[in-house]
Amino acid sequence: MPAPEEAGELTPEQQHDLRRRGLLELSRRTSAGVFMYAVAWMIVCQGGAFFQQHRRFALANAGGLLAVGILRFALHRRFAVLLERDMRRWVLAYYSLVFCHAVHWGSLLALSVTWGEAAAIRPFMVPMSVAIIMAGIIVVAIDPFLARCYPIAAIAPVVVLLMLNLNAANAVFAALGTAFMAYAWMISRVLRNDYWNGQRARALLENRARELEQVSLTDALTQVPNRLYLDRRLPVEWLQARRHKRPLAVALVDLDHFKRLNDTYGHPFGDRCLREAAATLRAQLLRPSDMVARYGGEEFVVLMPDTDLAGATAVAERLREQVAARSLLHEGQPVRIACSIGVAACMPSSPDGAQRLVKRADEALYQAKADGRNRVVALAHEGT
Ligand code: GH3
Ligand code: MG
Ligand code: MG
Repeated sequence: MPAPEEAGELTPEQQHDLRRRGLLELSRRTSAGVFMYAVAWMIVCQGGAFFQQHRRFALANAGGLLAVGILRFALHRRFAVLLERDMRRWVLAYYSLVFCHAVHWGSLLALSVTWGEAAAIRPFMVPMSVAIIMAGIIVVAIDPFLARCYPIAAIAPVVVLLMLNLNAANAVFAALGTAFMAYAWMISRVLRNDYWNGQRARALLENRARELEQVSLTDALTQVPNRLYLDRRLPVEWLQARRHKRPLAVALVDLDHFKRLNDTYGHPFGDRCLREAAATLRAQLLRPSDMVARYGGEEFVVLMPDTDLAGATAVAERLREQVAARSLLHEGQPVRIACSIGVAACMPSSPDGAQRLVKRADEALYQAKADGRNRVVALAHEGT
């Protein structure tokens, strides 16, 4: 699995998730071959008269290979659940079973090459071993530990036995075995790097996509959600309120005489006022389900699910008071800001009436402006 320094900008949770996914992928890849060792051994044993002459030996080894295959099969089936419970323990169990197969097969290969009685199966055992071990190396390549140890477990027994019975032919076989092991390491390294680079790139891409989505839904000046976010969220809240037969309230907040403020103190000061107003509105919303978004210019929308007109009016009055209580310093002089708020609430009944609720809040806002500003006007709405 990737070392932390290889994982770049991924968080520890993402690295953990990557490792978990890597293990599941490893299990998926290796699950196809769990019974192959037993089947391949039984086929090889048909060479010459070996099976007839060494029936018990052949069957005992087939049984051993099959038993490990069954354990691996059971482990693979529940691997995802077991990893959630105790990753270390089940990875250890997984590694052990893979090792059992590799060492067992490696020992049979060693025996077939050096044991005179097994001469009949040697021509079948050697090519079958090359195929099985190579396939094994390819499927475990994504795991750095198994990729290094599997070739040793499968090939070292035959190399060691050949070295112990050293003659010219055995020296050549031992050299071939060692070269095979080195080649296997090389191939698995390439495969491993490809796999993990791909996984890391995918995870980083997901991070970037999340960041971009966050940026695209946030107002750059005030750091509250923007109009796009509101346009997505409003119909969802409307439908939720309709399904649960709960009221939904909207407050439209518009800063008073903002053009004049800009003209008098300059745009940068106007920007500061907008940031301050947004922060004040956000700080005053106590329920996690309430939200404020910048609707455009110097207007904000406050969305209050599960809130009736009386409740929303009380919240709006608090918002208005808090905004009016703010004063920002301009060249050492305090400057006050104020806002007018239009509130509308309803029990949604039609599936697509969210925009009509906002329009109703806009009518209330218009009235608040007409009535002299720095005030809240609330209007009921039928919800259709
Ligand atoms: P009213 O009390 O009737 O709402 O008057 P108002 O001046 O606030 O309303 P009006 O719609 O005439 O002007 C809104 C002003 O808000 C005009 C525009 O320059 C300013 N404005 C809009 N967006 C921004 C912004 O991002 N930064 C700054 N500094 N000003 C902005
Ligand atoms: Mg306006
Ligand atoms: Mg205004």
